[in-house]
Amino acid sequence: MKMKNKAAAGLLALLMAASLTACGSSSSGSTTTAAGETTAAGGTTAAAAETTTSAETTTAADTTAAAETTVSASSAAQTTGAATAGDLKTVEAGELHMATNAAFPPYESVGDDGNFEGIDVEIAQKIADKLGLKLVIDDMDFGSVVTSVQTGKEDIAMAGLTVTDERKQNIDFTDSYATAVQVIIVPENSDIKTVDDLQGKKIGCQEGTTGYLYCSDTPENGGYGEENVTAFPSGANAVQALLTGKIDCVVIDNEPAKQYVAENEGLKILDTEFVSEEYAIGVSKDNNGLLTAVNNALDELKADGTVQSIIDKYIKAD
Ligand code: GLN
Repeated sequence: MKMKNKAAAGLLALLMAASLTACGSSSSGSTTTAAGETTAAGGTTAAAAETTTSAETTTAADTTAAAETTVSASSAAQTTGAATAGDLKTVEAGELHMATNAAFPPYESVGDDGNFEGIDVEIAQKIADKLGLKLVIDDMDFGSVVTSVQTGKEDIAMAGLTVTDERKQNIDFTDSYATAVQVIIVPENSDIKTVDDLQGKKIGCQEGTTGYLYCSDTPENGGYGEENVTAFPSGANAVQALLTGKIDCVVIDNEPAKQYVAENEGLKILDTEFVSEEYAIGVSKDNNGLLTAVNNALDELKADGTVQSIIDKYIKAD
């Protein structure tokens, strides 16, 4: 991560140390799959998750979190090299289940046609193609994304997901495929001009995100105090609260911020950036074979320009 200012350095140190689980609660009733609703107790039912892209419900594997799925090298004909060497274990045979929160454009959202779309969705599809697996997207609260992979209910976490030391304790990450910065959205006539003006203001964030952790920390640690930060189920909810004057600003990743500002009159993004972050794909610590395969596929897609062309399709140069 790259520090944008001195205050950010202190904040970031705390961000890294902060507990994500403490603020990753799941409160929205809009979760559309079974994923994330149960705990890993006993570790026996992970394969029973329903999928959103197909109506079928699979039978739970009777043993451990990851059902044994073998992808032979021949079925993964598009991949060269070692990406699929050996057996790949996924939660359901022949499928790659992606945990996401599809309310984070341009990385993931539900399009007008009802299908999932966005940078993460397209990169994940390319990875699945390379591995000879069918991509299944499981939409859930952001707060459940990491846990679902950690507990073996989902294969990969792809949700504009920032790599943090705290998350690294729970899941492994691939190499990074995108960078982001936290920014501040304010009403056009706001008296908030810089990060320093946030003291004592009512700040809105999406729950469980790095932006929330960053802002809700104590002032001694460079945050603004938990009592000044409201966690909303989605960024869109936070922006709605801003538009109705319930909060003074929203702190969120820059690309979703740009979309919210473009879609809503009277808002602007301050010219101040907090912290630069890296997005990567999360994989269970218990599935090193899948981590390697996904990482190799991602690296190939980065090397041949596919990842960049997908990003360019959704993010136009300023
Ligand atoms: N990048 C932020 C994080 O990882 C926000 C991600 C999101 O809201 N989908 O916490």
